[in-house]
Amino acid sequence: LREFASGVLRAAFVAAARLLWHAGLTGWLLRRSSVHPAVLVLTYHRVAEEQGRGAVGHRPNIIDRDLFRSHLAWLSSWCRPVSTTELREFLGGRGSWSGVGYLVTFDDGYRDVLDAAVPILEAAGARAVVMVTSGILDGTLVLPADVAAGVVPGQAPRLYLDARSTRELRERGVEVGAHSVSHRPLEELEAVEQEAEIRHSRSRLEEVLGGAVEVFSWPIGRVPGGLRELARRAGFTLVFANDFGAVLPGDDPLDLPRIAAVEYSVPVLAGKVLVALLAGSLRRWRRG
Ligand SMILES: [Zn+2]
Repeated sequence: LREFASGVLRAAFVAAARLLWHAGLTGWLLRRSSVHPAVLVLTYHRVAEEQGRGAVGHRPNIIDRDLFRSHLAWLSSWCRPVSTTELREFLGGRGSWSGVGYLVTFDDGYRDVLDAAVPILEAAGARAVVMVTSGILDGTLVLPADVAAGVVPGQAPRLYLDARSTRELRERGVEVGAHSVSHRPLEELEAVEQEAEIRHSRSRLEEVLGGAVEVFSWPIGRVPGGLRELARRAGFTLVFANDFGAVLPGDDPLDLPRIAAVEYSVPVLAGKVLVALLAGSLRRWRRG
C-alpha cells in the first residue's frame, strides 16, 4: 500500500510540475524563490554514449545525452555554474553572492561521464565533480546496479573509469571526489571497515591523481552523524549526502543536500528545483 501511495504521489507531482511549466508559472515562481542565495547540487550517475532516446532503454541511473544537455541549458538560463572552491566560499559566507548557483555531481565513476558528459559540460560552461568508487579502478569491482544487470568482473572494461581516464577527467577541468572503496552501505559495516572505506578511497584516488582529494559523497542512503565525523577526520572538507534539498549559506559542509536529477524531463526537474528552493526558504526562515 505504501508503494502504491508513493507511486500516486509521484504521478501527482509530475502532473503538477508539467501543468505549472506549461502554464508558464514555473519561471515566475522560480524568480520569486531565488531572491536569496542558494546552490543546487545535482546528482547524476551516467550519460548515454549513444545518441537518441532509444539508447537509454531500461538501464538504471542513465540519462539520455539530449536530455542532459537540456537540463544544463535550462539551468544555465537562470543560474550560474559554481565550482567546489566557490561552494566553500559560499558556505563560509565569503565572497559576494546573489541568486542561485549550480554544481553537477556524478556518483560511482562510470566511463561514459568522460566520453559523453564532459563535452556537454564544457559546451554549457558547467562545473562538475565525479565521485569515484575507488574499487573500480583496478577492474575487480562490479557495482551493485551492474551485478543485478549481469555484469561480471573484467567483462566490461570500458564500463568504469580506470586510473588513466580518471586523470584525464581532472585534466579536462572536472574535479574528482571519493565515493567509498566498495560501494557497500557504510552504516551497516563495522567501525573498522567504515573507516577503511572512507580513508582508503581517498588515499587510492590521491595516489592515482598525484594531488589532494577533499570531496566525498556517501554511496547509499541517509548517513548518521558519526560517519560524518569519520569523513572529517579522513580529511574531507566537502561531503555530499543523498538527502533532498538546496544548499544554503551556513550549511554544514560535511552534510550537503542534493537533487537527484536522473531521468526527469526539464519541467519535472524545474518542479523539483522549485520545491528545493521553497523548502530552503522555510529552513532559512526557521533559522531566523
Ligand atoms: Zn553511488
